[in-house]
Amino acid sequence: MALTGIQILKMLPKKNCGECGIPTCLAFAMKVAAGQQEIGECPYVSDAVKEQIGEASAPPIRTVKIGGGENVFTMGGETCLYRHEKRFENPTGIGVLVTTEMSDSDVDGRIDRFNNLRYERVGVMMKADIVAVKDAKNDEASFVALTKKVLDGAADAKLVLMSENAGNLKAATAACGDRKPLLFGATASNAADMAALGKETGCPVGVKGANLDDTIGISEKLTADGLKDLVLDTGARTIRGALEDNLVARKAAVTKKYKPLGFSTITFPCEMTDDPLLEAMISSVLIAKYAGIVILSDLQGDILFPLFLERLNIFTDPQRPMVVQEDVYSLNGPDENSPVLITCNFSLTYFIVSGEIEGSKVPSWLLIKDTEGLSVLTAWAAGKFGADMIAAFIKKSGIADKVKHQELIIPGYLASMKGELEEELAGWTITIGPREAGHLPAFLKEWKPAA
Ligand code: SF4
Repeated sequence: MALTGIQILKMLPKKNCGECGIPTCLAFAMKVAAGQQEIGECPYVSDAVKEQIGEASAPPIRTVKIGGGENVFTMGGETCLYRHEKRFENPTGIGVLVTTEMSDSDVDGRIDRFNNLRYERVGVMMKADIVAVKDAKNDEASFVALTKKVLDGAADAKLVLMSENAGNLKAATAACGDRKPLLFGATASNAADMAALGKETGCPVGVKGANLDDTIGISEKLTADGLKDLVLDTGARTIRGALEDNLVARKAAVTKKYKPLGFSTITFPCEMTDDPLLEAMISSVLIAKYAGIVILSDLQGDILFPLFLERLNIFTDPQRPMVVQEDVYSLNGPDENSPVLITCNFSLTYFIVSGEIEGSKVPSWLLIKDTEGLSVLTAWAAGKFGADMIAAFIKKSGIADKVKHQELIIPGYLASMKGELEEELAGWTITIGPREAGHLPAFLKEWKPAA
């Protein structure tokens, strides 16, 4: 049973010291009850109370980690059905399947693409997270050899080890050392062995159900045996079946606190079709609706990139705009004669503008003004990017000490601000830059300081 804020407050030291980052114990208790704050943020709470409150205020979808040290994939921790209610916590893991029946070149190709298909966008590195290693021949030696090959070849991959033979899984897990894999999967017939292996190794265990009811039964058995970290496969191998099961599981866990389904799901689009485009479409549906992991048959850039973007969008906190820090950024090694540009701190704007400047190879100073993550025109309309604010920022930024000229290039969309800004920034010349970032390289190549 979840605790209320008042129940949690009774267990707090009530110092109202604010060291947790919240001014009062009451406000802190309310945030813990709402799942917005961890009880461990209060340094004065005993371990016993932490355990009691932590258990009671745990998210309905359990947080489970795969990997070790700094190389960890975190799944679950979800508290809501819809992103706009709060936010989704941990992005769906995207993985690729390798099996002991594949040729060396097929495996090497997948490992190579796992390592190389990486894209940076708005300061976020988008990449695959997981390699699923399948014991397709029920053969310990080849399974361990393939596991070692993946461990050596994909240094930051988190592993899902797939076998119904607990002995083979144990041998492959031993090769993983600190990189704790997900052990997949526990069926109705091997659940006792898998529970023992999960407890012995401390690894999370994947439930491999034949259907939703079977999954619930295995989940209950494993938790009764003392396992806490589970991941669920309901056995669905059609898009409709997998989507329905994901919806039912999330709804039962979040709205009914139904424990047997209170875990992330692992899904296998790789086993649902032979058509790569259809596989991508199925994956996109499952990323949107609650899959903790999707396993693909292969990694290809034209399929991965849109999935990465979808994942980035869905798991971005809708209550918190993506921002970069207010600062003076030097691009291409600027000096005292280099142009000075200003824009807002919306991440997408920053990365597009800085990317164009870097591409131009023109040494430049880029000033980023804090507009609370709003884009140029929105910030201006909301009164967060006005002439007085820009002038105040320019004066405190220290840019005047870095350049010999006094010329500021403003976004073309703020052209109407030129006169007002020249009044606020006495001695500075205001130049209107292009409206579109794509026109910046040509603009900068022609730019010379105003006489
Ligand atoms: Fe209260 Fe602890 Fe926060 Fe201090 S740190 S205000 S005692 S909850």
